[in-house]
Amino acid sequence: MNTATHISWADLARIKKAAKAAQTLPDLSYMQRLDALAASEFGVRHFHELQKRHEQKVAAHVEMRGGAHFCRYCDFTFSDFDKADRKQHTDLHHCFEEAESVMGFHPLGYKERESLKRAGHEQLMSEHGVTRRQGALQVILAHYDRSLMRAIEGNRWARHPYFLEYLPGALAVSTIWNADVLQSLVREFGERPGVIAKGDTDWPSDVTRQSRSDAGKLESMTMRQGLIAAWKASALLPVG
Ligand SMILES: [Zn+2]
Repeated sequence: MNTATHISWADLARIKKAAKAAQTLPDLSYMQRLDALAASEFGVRHFHELQKRHEQKVAAHVEMRGGAHFCRYCDFTFSDFDKADRKQHTDLHHCFEEAESVMGFHPLGYKERESLKRAGHEQLMSEHGVTRRQGALQVILAHYDRSLMRAIEGNRWARHPYFLEYLPGALAVSTIWNADVLQSLVREFGERPGVIAKGDTDWPSDVTRQSRSDAGKLESMTMRQGLIAAWKASALLPVG
């Protein structure tokens, strides 16, 4: 039995799908099957209780900011009092949850991306090649996360690549001024012109990612985690 207190939208969707399948518990109605599955999987009395738990989980991300509601998870400002706004946020929140469960991570929000980019640009001024390489990758990762965030907002994240596939496309149009860093990154990761438009950093909506292997996913995630860990460690250092 899964006793997790956090119920994701995917958990609810999965139980609904199972309850719809007529072969499971055929003597019960759909609602009864929902309750029975919720009870056996999560130890709750009713499916409704799971829905409530999920709503609480979503609400835990929402705070008041400047007179409006702000979801830290979606990086989204809205009015929870307005029915249409509330629905827009719920749909978006589900989309983010789904993307995270499939892709294995959640893109950084605006403020975090800006901080990551700043740290990257600082490192690009280092005299050490290894540090400059890391800085360049951090800047590109900040662009990557924004690109993915927009893809999630547009509900087309399933076509968006992992970081390692994004990199050659981004390097082909990069405006990073350190020619030596750029050249060595191109040697390391390759270059793919004509995907990302010049002057842009977003993965185009009409281009589907190529790599579907777990290797690309895992390597990208390891790299992403390393770059973020290095940024967080540098952000903790005293300024000056
Ligand atoms: Zn949200």
